Amino acid sequence: MDLSYILNELGEERDQYFNSVSPPIMQSSNFTFNTVNDFREALSDEFEATLYSRGQNPTLNILRQKLAALDGAEDALVFSSGIAAITIPVLALLKQGDHVISVRNPYSWTVKLFDHLLPKYGISTTFVDGTDAEHIAKAIQPHTKLIYLESPNTFSYELQDLAAVAAIAGQHGIITMIDNSYCTPLYQQPIQLGIDLVAQSATKYIGGHSDVVAGVVTGSKSLIKRIFEQEFLNIGAALSPHSAWLLIRGLRTLPLRLGRSFETTKQVVAWLKQQPQVDKVLWPFDADFKQSELARRQMSGCGGLFSFTLKNSTWQRIESFCDSLKHILMAVSWGGHESLVIPAIAGVKPSDYETSNERQQLIRMYIGLEDAGYLTDDIKQALDKLSF
Ligand SMILES: *Cc1c(COP(=O)(O)O)cnc(C)c1O
Repeated sequence: MDLSYILNELGEERDQYFNSVSPPIMQSSNFTFNTVNDFREALSDEFEATLYSRGQNPTLNILRQKLAALDGAEDALVFSSGIAAITIPVLALLKQGDHVISVRNPYSWTVKLFDHLLPKYGISTTFVDGTDAEHIAKAIQPHTKLIYLESPNTFSYELQDLAAVAAIAGQHGIITMIDNSYCTPLYQQPIQLGIDLVAQSATKYIGGHSDVVAGVVTGSKSLIKRIFEQEFLNIGAALSPHSAWLLIRGLRTLPLRLGRSFETTKQVVAWLKQQPQVDKVLWPFDADFKQSELARRQMSGCGGLFSFTLKNSTWQRIESFCDSLKHILMAVSWGGHESLVIPAIAGVKPSDYETSNERQQLIRMYIGLEDAGYLTDDIKQALDKLSF
């Protein structure tokens, strides 16, 4: 399906609402029926019915159609956060006694899902280095029901060979799921590579303006229906119609924003590698990145997140650099119009800091929509303050 058609037309029945270009926000919790028979039919299959907005809502359904089409999936479900779009499908797919294989170092709350929440229900997880698909194959147990991927992750950017992992999972009848937030469907198409379920934090690039928290999962109609009918309705992390409308608006400009973020990141990364105070830069499309060949094979573009380390990477120098930035804002999250920085040490106690632990030294940056020169000037003045 044409990208332009998906973003501008798909799912929008303008003649149903005064030919308005922008779709209505169907701000209603509830929908009525004229006959008991219609009502009974809706109650018997809420997946197909517009009954109550914890389940289906017309504004959300426009968004769902677009997000499913972007992934080349049969269907999509949207949630009130990205982590709900991960937690709820995982809970829906697993039961007591099941085993999960997850890549090491996924998103922080995904780690907590596997480490803290699932063990309460008798579900165990093995974390493996997913840079070699063989490590995943070797971790398979008789009760392994899910292989969970995040490629690349959003701090150190390790990739998995998605087609290779999907082939291994297929041989064992194991469901595969990926967090595709970094790439979005524009830069990576996991379903085409054989992955079953694709989750994203729509808070990031899809929303794109740092004003909505949301998530999406896409996959086959049967998997989506299975997730919807029990855990989705029961946990009730429904997105509001207004937030769905903001995401539809975000989608209109997604290719522009993502392309701009990609191009500017390319320039900032190339510049940063030349700076005498900088040691390593990690970005999947950088020629020096360990898995750059795989990145270019399975991704058609690269996101605006990268990480780097300073030479003589002491706690004080990392703090001084980040504190000195004037325009690049210090915050969690990413994917908006504004560039951001987050040093790993923001989540480390001073007494736990080890100069031998490279992950603790990483400074993550997200490149938004500002001009490259505006950002490199800001980074330069902060680097120049590192006289010690
Ligand atoms: C932000 C993020 C999430 C969680 O999304 P929320 O919308 O914050 O709940 C999951 N995965 C990745 C990679 C993220 O960056």
